[in-house]
This record gives sequence, C-alpha cells and structure tokens, in this order.
Amino acid sequence: MVKVAINGYGTIGKRIADAVDSQDDMEIIGVAKTRPNFEAKIAIERGYEMYAAIPEKCDDFERVGITIAGTIQDLLCKADIVIDCTPGGIGAQNKSIYEDAGVKAIFQGGEKHGVAEFSFNSACNYEDALGRDFLRVVSCNTTGLCRVLNPLDKEFGVKKARALLIRRAADPNDDKKGPINSIVPDPVTLPSHHGPDVQTVLPHINITTLAIKIPTTLMHLHVLNVVFDKKPEVYNIKAVLEKAPRIRFVSAADGITSTASIIELGRDLSRPRYDMWENCLWDESISIKDELYFFQAIHQESIVIPENIDAIRAMAELEENGQKSVIKTNKSMGII
Ligand code: NAD
Repeated sequence: MVKVAINGYGTIGKRIADAVDSQDDMEIIGVAKTRPNFEAKIAIERGYEMYAAIPEKCDDFERVGITIAGTIQDLLCKADIVIDCTPGGIGAQNKSIYEDAGVKAIFQGGEKHGVAEFSFNSACNYEDALGRDFLRVVSCNTTGLCRVLNPLDKEFGVKKARALLIRRAADPNDDKKGPINSIVPDPVTLPSHHGPDVQTVLPHINITTLAIKIPTTLMHLHVLNVVFDKKPEVYNIKAVLEKAPRIRFVSAADGITSTASIIELGRDLSRPRYDMWENCLWDESISIKDELYFFQAIHQESIVIPENIDAIRAMAELEENGQKSVIKTNKSMGII
C-alpha cells in the first residue's frame, strides 16, 4: 500500500483524500491543515489523522478539542508521496520541505510547470510519469482540453485548435472573490496562458485560447474549434471521443441544457459532493463546417481528482500501463 499524505485540505485536497481512500493499492496516512475548522472535524470523522500544516498553529487545534498527530514534518516522515493541494504558488514554496523529507510530491495546476518540470494527464503521458519524484497535475481547464485533443489528434491530426474558455469566477464555497454582474476578460492579454499550458503536456499541439470569467460558480464552459489534417465526419468524431476515457456525452434532448442541469445530474447520480469527474460534452453541439465545433462543460472542483490517483500509481510504479490505471481508478470512483 502506498502511503499518501495530503498537504492542504481544501476543495481539491479533500476530494483527493476520499478518492485515495477508495483505492485498494494506496492509503491516506494523514492530512495537514492550517486551520482547525469544520473541515478538520469532518476529516477526523472520516478517519483521517490530522496534522498541523503550520507547526506554530498546533495549539489552535488542541484549543478547540482537535487532537493532532503532529506537524507536517512528522507526516512527511511517514509518507511515500505527498499531494500538495495548497493555493497556487504555495506548492512551489513547499517543494524544499518535500525534498528534505525525501518524499515524492504531486503539485496542482495552480503551480507553474517548472515546479516539477513534468506536467501530467493520465491519457496523454502516464508512461512518462513512471517512477518520477515530482509531477504537476495540470489545471481543470488544461485537463479538460487534453482529454479531448489527445485522442482527436491521434486519429485525425490536429492542425490547429482554438478554445474559448468561459470560466466560473469562483468555487461555490468561495465568498471572497468573483465578479458581481460583470464579464471579465481574464487575462485581458491575448491569447491566454491556457494554450501554452496544454503544450506542457502535448507540446506538438498547435492551440490558442481565450478566457473570460463570468459570475457563476458551478462549472467552466469550453467552446472548441479544431482544424484537422484529415477530414472526419461528425460520426467519426463521436466514435473517437466515445472510446476516450472520462468523457461523458450529455444531450439537450434529455433536458441537459446548461451547467445547472449537469450539476443536477451529478446530484441525481448521488455523486459525492455532486462531482462530475468527466468532461461533459454536448452531443448536439458536435458539428463540422470545414472545422470541428463543440461545447464541453468542466466541473472545476473535481475533474483533476482521477488524474491525481493515476499520478500516484505511476510515480509509485504500482501499474506500468496507463490504460489499466485509468480503468482501475474509474472503477473504484464510479466513473463510467
Ligand atoms: P482551496 O483554497 O480550496 O484549498 C487550499 C487549502 O490549503 C485551504 O484549506 C487552505 O487553508 C490551505 N493552505 C493554505 N496555505 C497552506 C499551507 N501553507 N500549507 C498547507 N495548507 C495550506 O484551493 P483549491 O481550490 O483546493 O486549490 C488547490 C490547488 O489546486 C491550486 O493549485 C489550484 O490552482 C488547483 N486547482 C484548483 C481547482 C479548483 O477549481 N478549485 C481546479 C483544479 C486545480
């Protein structure tokens, strides 16, 4: 069993902890938090040992009756792999403590590619991740783009991809940020950094991206436009994407007409925290007018969770074959 530690128990950290817990070849040996809030109490109820991410704050936990097992350093001593789920930029600052503890580390998409010099997506470069000490799982938007562009490129050759990313302004639990009644070009300089981020995983893909932020918290929406070397028909595109992992077709004919209805679908499926781990791609939107067009929605809070599980498996060399890891992760998490 690979011993996994979580440093930073927020939106991403708590979901990765639960996903690791559902695997039979890895286990959570503890989570490190900065604050002794309700999330810390629930983590303990779930059976996770609690550690203080900031050693000076140990007393804060004890004061509210939360027993901690030690500090982040104590946790790292026992771990094979730490998943850094701290806010963007803090992971890079943490890297030296992971190196000092001799523990492998996975960083998230808020960090720059340079933090690990290797950016990961399960279906694109699993085999290149085998045995690595450091790795970055790319962001939600980049994961969503890689999942569709990689299989389409393999089959038809992507000559040029363009994507407009209509981004949620903040996560549902975030009451500190977000534009109110506003549409924000983000970034205002064009093209956006998301294209180069896709190229950290798929360097040969010719892609440009634009991004705007709108006042919603549920999901991102991508408008994709792809030019190919070959000339596929709509049914060819569907056949390729149906076979690709972690892509769910949704249909307006079923009443799924918005990100709100996708979230309702997640609730009706009794998904934990209504997570939609798959790209949600609108069937009716797939059209070809010289170029391919389609819409996909990306649940930012959960899409990268299965990739983190595969990343652990690759770094710990539990499974050499990426497809087998993806199937194992999907089965244990309940992904179709
Ligand atoms: P979050 O703010 O929800 O959670 C971060 C947690 O880390 C918080 O609990 C915070 O208290 C804690 N923390 C802060 N400083 C810390 C420190 N020094 N040591 C330990 N813990 C610390 O953030 P998140 O949304 O979970 O994002 C985490 C990472 O995942 C970021 O790199 C982000 O870019 C990336 N990511 C986020 C999303 C998303 O939509 N939320 C999607 C994909 C990737």
